[in-house]
Amino acid sequence: MILDANTENIARCAAALLAGELVVMPTETVYGLAGLARNPSAVRRIYHVKSRPSENPLILHVSSIESAKQASSTWTDTADRLTAAFWPGPLTVVLPSDSELGTVAIRMPAHPVALRLLEQVGEPLVAPSANLFTRLSPTRAEDVSSEIAGQVFTILDGGPCEIGIESTIVDCRRSDTVAILRSGSISRADLEQFVPVIDSASDIRVPGQYKRHYAPKIPVRLVDTPTPEAYGLTILSATVKQIPMPRDPRAYAARLYAALHQLEEMNPPEIEIQTPPRTPEWAAVWDRLSRMVG
Ligand code: AMP
Ligand code: MG
Repeated sequence: MILDANTENIARCAAALLAGELVVMPTETVYGLAGLARNPSAVRRIYHVKSRPSENPLILHVSSIESAKQASSTWTDTADRLTAAFWPGPLTVVLPSDSELGTVAIRMPAHPVALRLLEQVGEPLVAPSANLFTRLSPTRAEDVSSEIAGQVFTILDGGPCEIGIESTIVDCRRSDTVAILRSGSISRADLEQFVPVIDSASDIRVPGQYKRHYAPKIPVRLVDTPTPEAYGLTILSATVKQIPMPRDPRAYAARLYAALHQLEEMNPPEIEIQTPPRTPEWAAVWDRLSRMVG
């Protein structure tokens, strides 16, 4: 069931979450399958509903920097600078924690509905993307698959996601430098305005970075564009449908999953994606595209 994200429905969802149920909530990146972080059975159900491997940890969603500080065992200078600059927003910081994994990933979402819900619940939620493991993330309430929809209290409709791809994940365990663990709309250049970025954190376990991920059900083929301006999405089928894509990398990212969902519903034998330029501002889009064919 999809419900409008009005005051009354947000309050009902907050109560359901506190009672241990799962809710699909809008965020500015993608729709999240939310559950109470401190409730082990809610957390187990998230893994079960998504068919997500248990070694793939969940991102903690908070409504303030204060509660992020409480969730980590050490708050670093780099986390301080980056959260001051980018929270609320599509940035996940990885910090030391007392958990078995030794780290925790935390984000404060910017979507007003997610923030309202978090404030009303009054404690952190875990909220991976509301899709089956490896599939396309939903960026519109109606793109949440029936498998997920059938197992949650409700889907809160907060409109199309503004960012449209998953958050940038940054290793902030060190106080002098950071490393990007997953690219997103906050780019390396954006981060470098506040902290030095090094190429990789050699000693961190980066769980859940699967080669094939974020993929439609239908095979995807990446094809070079004849001219750099020609990128679009095409399905190869008897009834060829071409979806023109925006030239701007942020607008392209915001549109990507919804466009692929739209093509998926037509059930073509293959989806062909004309690739965008290989420049740094397209890094996050390239990351997702290459995992669709991985
Ligand atoms: P999502 O699928 O968007 O929920 O993002 C989950 C991803 O966040 C995982 O696949 C990991 O790459 C990353 N992640 C979550 N928790 C941690 C952690 N404690 N340490 C390092 N990476 C993490
Ligand atoms: Mg996901």
